[in-house]
Amino acid sequence: MAFIIDGKKVSAQIREQIAADTQKLLAETGVCPGLAVVIVGEDPASKVYVKNKKKGCGQVGFYSEEYALPEQTSQEELLALLDRLNADSKIHGILVQLPLPRHLDEKTVIERILPAKDVDAFHASNVGKIMIGDYDFLPCTPAGVMELLRSEKISAQGKECVVVGRSNIVGKPMAMLLLHENGTVTIAHSKTKNLAEVTRRADILVSAVGRAKFITADMVKPGAVVIDVGMNRDEQGKLCGDVDFALVEPVASYLTPVPGGVGPMTISMLLKNTLTSAQKAAKKG
Ligand code: NDP
Repeated sequence: MAFIIDGKKVSAQIREQIAADTQKLLAETGVCPGLAVVIVGEDPASKVYVKNKKKGCGQVGFYSEEYALPEQTSQEELLALLDRLNADSKIHGILVQLPLPRHLDEKTVIERILPAKDVDAFHASNVGKIMIGDYDFLPCTPAGVMELLRSEKISAQGKECVVVGRSNIVGKPMAMLLLHENGTVTIAHSKTKNLAEVTRRADILVSAVGRAKFITADMVKPGAVVIDVGMNRDEQGKLCGDVDFALVEPVASYLTPVPGGVGPMTISMLLKNTLTSAQKAAKKG
């Protein structure tokens, strides 16, 4: 029977620390961390994420601004808003909720955010820094996974780590962080042959695919640590991860639930990055 890692609990502890550090920063320098969240269009899932991010800011005492722009917003209008936020000293973190409507160019938009305010760590300059292991921010979801492992004193050192999924926002940086922790890392994707054979090698298995019940018991080595990044809907429309929880739970040693696993950690890491950015800005004066 797997130990279920409680992402809500770990996340609450991290937010308590962020709230305390925010008070300290405010008392010592007068700087209050500020996060601007920009959403374009009406995607219901994105709206939920934005609501949770705003709530998270309130919990830790941040200043926050939310820009809900209409679907037909032009690229020029969006870039002009980002330029304004880049120049605004009250704002230390800027997040543009993805995906954007199809007529907007995601790459151009991400590259317009100042790297120092890119608290998602999606800007090419921040991605490059992560690659060489000398970074200011880590991408929120992979950083959240590493915090969950740390919370249970699970080390990746010398372990076989398999990450399923190779997106720029989850899979690739996840693999890089496990590598920084001295794991022996394999990245699997849709063209991987004999996937179950690959995943069965894993001491630490991270799934970031986006398909319900994708990771089944026969894909998991007995005693493996299984981290479920997926956020999907099952046949009943209920939120679920990539892992077939009921079947994998008896096989794994540790398992993260969905909801209540990686999800809450992602927002906590976003808050942490915003605090880091504010602390750096306060130092510069
Ligand atoms: P993407 O769709 O960008 O990437 C999915 C990856 O899964 C791709 O690399 C793809 O391979 C791979 N894949 C798809 N089918 C298979 C298959 N049959 N076998 C092996 N690999 C496969 O998704 P994201 O990385 O953005 O997100 C992944 C999941 O994580 C989603 O459910 C998303 O909702 C969730 N998520 C959760 C977050 C959280 O806070 N908990 C935050 C961000 C995402 P290929 O590259 O070959 O196409």
